[in-house]
Amino acid sequence: MRRPCVAGNWKMFETASEARILVSELLSGLIELDNKVEIVLCPPFTSILPVAALLEGTGIGVGAQNMHWETSGAFTGEISPVMLAEFCKYVILGHSERRAYFGENDEGVNRKVKAALENGMVPIMCVGETLEENEAGKTRQVVSTQVRNGLNDVDASSIMKVVIAYEPVWAIGTGRAATAAGANQVIADIIRNEVSLSFGDDAAQAVRVLYGGSVKASNAEEFFRQVDIDGALVGGASLKATEFLPIVRAAGS
Ligand code: PEP
Repeated sequence: MRRPCVAGNWKMFETASEARILVSELLSGLIELDNKVEIVLCPPFTSILPVAALLEGTGIGVGAQNMHWETSGAFTGEISPVMLAEFCKYVILGHSERRAYFGENDEGVNRKVKAALENGMVPIMCVGETLEENEAGKTRQVVSTQVRNGLNDVDASSIMKVVIAYEPVWAIGTGRAATAAGANQVIADIIRNEVSLSFGDDAAQAVRVLYGGSVKASNAEEFFRQVDIDGALVGGASLKATEFLPIVRAAGS
């Protein structure tokens, strides 16, 4: 049984004071939930501390949106896994916005995935094809390469701790979500298949794979009905309690 997970990627939104308000709105709506769904909030670095303080004892996890792979060093402007691990259990890695705007590649994502695991964190590793790649029929090639490279040399005993997020780039922030069946097919035939080739069938069935890309209250349920989709990585809709709460509820029903 794979426990459903819904993670909110706040991107570069919410000052610390705005974050406190959003968390209290979320908490009042989440009070009646059992712990069926793993809920994770990923604020910007400056809001991690206040959010972690408010979430203490609630069972809701906190995550970062990026990190460096080194423990410490002369890397101005970077934050290390050791620093994050004091406050966060999760970290989003290889998000398409980081790949597109900050030159991240599979090799760097792979170093970060391994660094997160070594520091006891859960990496949420994002993969997904661009619109151009999709239209050129390259989805399998692109996504399987990202999965293979991103998980290269990950210890077999740790693979189950990794969460993979399938986020077709053309669906992120566009309001144009993938079809639930289409996303499920990529996850089953490409992502789990690639995990199986590297780590075996049991790992492929145990690893959690989320869908991300314009998930909202009105379409979440359809995604969660798919057998191979274990939850969602939610961007825009995670910034509104009235959108995020129904998504979390749908994942638990
Ligand atoms: C994301 O940023 O990971 C994301 C999926 O964004 P959105 O839900 O806004 O498409």
